[in-house]
Amino acid sequence: MKKHPEDFIKKITEQARPLEKTYYLAEWEAAAEASIEALSRVKDAQAAYIRFWSDPELFQIAKQLNESEKVDDPLLARQLKLIYLTAAQNQQDEATIERLIELESRVRQRYYNYRGRVDGRELSDNEIDDILKASRDSGQVQQVWEASKQVGQQVAEEVREMARLRNTAARAQGFRDHFHRSLFLEEIDEQELLDLFEDLEEQSRKPFAGLKGEIDRALCARFGVPEEDLRPWHYGDRFFQEGPQLGEVDLDSLVANQALEKLAAATYEGIGMDVGAILSRSDLYPRSGKNQHAFCIHIDREGDIRTLNNLQTTHRWAETLLHELGHSVYEQYLDPELPWLLRAPAHTFTTEAVAILMGSLTFDPEWYTRVIGTKEEIARTLAAAALRNDQTKKLIFTRWCLTMTHFERLFYSDPEADLDTTWWDCVERFQLLRRPDARRAPDWAAKIHIALAPVYYHNYELGHLMASQLRKRLTEEDGGIVGRPSAGRWLIDRIFSPGASLDWRALVEKATGEALNPRYFVCSFA
Ligand SMILES: [Zn+2]
Repeated sequence: MKKHPEDFIKKITEQARPLEKTYYLAEWEAAAEASIEALSRVKDAQAAYIRFWSDPELFQIAKQLNESEKVDDPLLARQLKLIYLTAAQNQQDEATIERLIELESRVRQRYYNYRGRVDGRELSDNEIDDILKASRDSGQVQQVWEASKQVGQQVAEEVREMARLRNTAARAQGFRDHFHRSLFLEEIDEQELLDLFEDLEEQSRKPFAGLKGEIDRALCARFGVPEEDLRPWHYGDRFFQEGPQLGEVDLDSLVANQALEKLAAATYEGIGMDVGAILSRSDLYPRSGKNQHAFCIHIDREGDIRTLNNLQTTHRWAETLLHELGHSVYEQYLDPELPWLLRAPAHTFTTEAVAILMGSLTFDPEWYTRVIGTKEEIARTLAAAALRNDQTKKLIFTRWCLTMTHFERLFYSDPEADLDTTWWDCVERFQLLRRPDARRAPDWAAKIHIALAPVYYHNYELGHLMASQLRKRLTEEDGGIVGRPSAGRWLIDRIFSPGASLDWRALVEKATGEALNPRYFVCSFA
């Protein structure tokens, strides 16, 4: 390989491009139908992709070029940096690559095909969530919650082995462990992140304790049990990451009888963005054998953008669809003139920020009147409830993020530890839940992110902070978001279009005039 920066970048681009496309297409097909063949295609494509980036020679050249000060052109310098970071993330020997891919594939198959069993009947995640949300029967929610955790036992040993392998690769590069390496190579300073999370823990402590008390009282009444009998299965979802709906207003009734696709298209049209092509390429409704989560994928960095959802006519799925389309429009409006390597969001959390911002419109009273067509006076009464719901969700999610991030840090610091206990220690500390009595099970492994999206969760929290900063800017300058093409224009010009030509710090500062900070996010619940 030549060491002239432009030639090097060109060569890497030409080689990486088809590998990435093949890999993403295989991912998409396996998510749509988790057959043995589809999963084996993902495995092969992923192996080819990782093998390419794991090349030590490529890494050495990227490192040298990245460190040399001769590259003045900022677009070239940024491309070199991204090549260096991607190569560094993939530095590991052939045996490690093979083993990791094998484990990931096996574990992926288990998660995708897993359905909890209750009394011999298989339940989808949607069915489990519906029961946890609506039931008033303690015995039933316990049974369903426990069923949702069985997948943890099926994958725990493999997930532990994955952590060991990731750690070995990280240590060979001089990092403390995989947690440390992951953050560093996504340009996040670990100490800065921990300080920020400590601040969030502190600032959310009182409001969360108040909210939790209120939830507990409501749950005692709903289930007819004393407070000391409340356990994690009473809290409305599998991980207490969203929490039960509080108050009288049923937000699901808002979207009942609505076609979510139409609502979503109208929402984006109102801010001057066209999602028609994305929706037509997307896989929107549940089926057996299909991945039960939701995601957005940009197959080729040339506009083949798709989302996968499992839509039901509920408020949560309306929010999720707007969320995934938020990722999609970010990709769709990247400046097409950017070089391939920079035709991507600035950072994982900047695209999460946009997705979160768009999903949160389903709590915006203007969305009810302007998009759904709810009558003014009904919208007004719903507004307070919606606002409260939004605040509640942010608080609950923040505490859940603290659990996930702290657990993962401990997980990688010692994968041999008593993780079952560590998990519940974190849940009790941050989410104030009471652990189930005498339960010995790897409940941590029931969360798919721990296995397949490692050291990712902090991006959601950082996304929340940035979303609040974006919302503040758009409220001040455009009066809001719903139905305002000027707000959409600003997002396209200032956030989407620059792609990865700027790092996240520069992007946030340039666009909002401020560094990333928790001020506006905390205001929304404190
Ligand atoms: Zn997202």
